[in-house]
Amino acid sequence: MTLVYPKWIPGNHRPSGPIANLTGLRMEAGGLTLPWQRDPVDMYAFHVEVPAGLREIVVSFDDLTNAGSAGASGASASSNLLDLNWNQVVLCPQGMSSDGVEVIPSVRLPAGWKFGSALGMNRKSDGVVEFNPVSLTELVDSPLIAGSHYRQIQLTSAGENPLHLMDLVGDSDPDLEMTQQDLESYKKLVAETGVLFGARHYRQYHFLYTFSDQVGHHGLEHHESSDNSVAERTLNDPSLHLLEAGLLPHEFVHSWNGKYRRPAGLATRNYREPMIGDLLWVYEGLTEYLGD
Ligand SMILES: [Zn+2]
Repeated sequence: MTLVYPKWIPGNHRPSGPIANLTGLRMEAGGLTLPWQRDPVDMYAFHVEVPAGLREIVVSFDDLTNAGSAGASGASASSNLLDLNWNQVVLCPQGMSSDGVEVIPSVRLPAGWKFGSALGMNRKSDGVVEFNPVSLTELVDSPLIAGSHYRQIQLTSAGENPLHLMDLVGDSDPDLEMTQQDLESYKKLVAETGVLFGARHYRQYHFLYTFSDQVGHHGLEHHESSDNSVAERTLNDPSLHLLEAGLLPHEFVHSWNGKYRRPAGLATRNYREPMIGDLLWVYEGLTEYLGD
């Protein structure tokens, strides 16, 4: 069989899957180590002979977090926090639709770390958080941020549905302090999208917001969350804050324009199929018009 690593990453619109970060690959079945071979041409594909009669193989590998995460040029973790895009930690059988692969995700975080994600938690025991089963599509669409300095802010009033939450992680607690004026503005952002679009298609929405000078800075849109990473002092430095003022509104609008409704060439069956970006002017242009 052939196992493949996600290559064309939604929201990146290009073959940016950080394959160079995959290392220490090991495949086992029935107590045996299975020899595997990387495809000589396609660096994202690994071939393995599975002995007849075996129905399950166990694959493990390490993912380097110090450089080149999808969508950002810098690291995806520091000693205080993690920005986990699940496409970086999965292999799946070649040819399958990402809708047709069911995953039960789990994560073991350092002691004392808290996390935010649109994924629904099933249970937590012995430091391992297990989430509800999801398709691979939903998994890749639902990143997780975690850290030792964490806070969550409610952006919807009590009793209002769906919930809008802001999950913040940073290199220190003061990085996460928000002025009352900013808080009111983010609440207003949520309310105004209700007026602008007239309907909401998600179960709840998480603004994942990372404040660090140690990791790469980016914004990546998803259906039920956005993954936003900025300089450590952004909330406390008016100039930095002004520079990033369009980030959250932009990624939030993408939940409607780009995720709920997506140009045909960008809605692919799995992360192997190339995306065709001739309608990116709608995907990005209309989002800039409405959100920035
Ligand atoms: Zn965009």
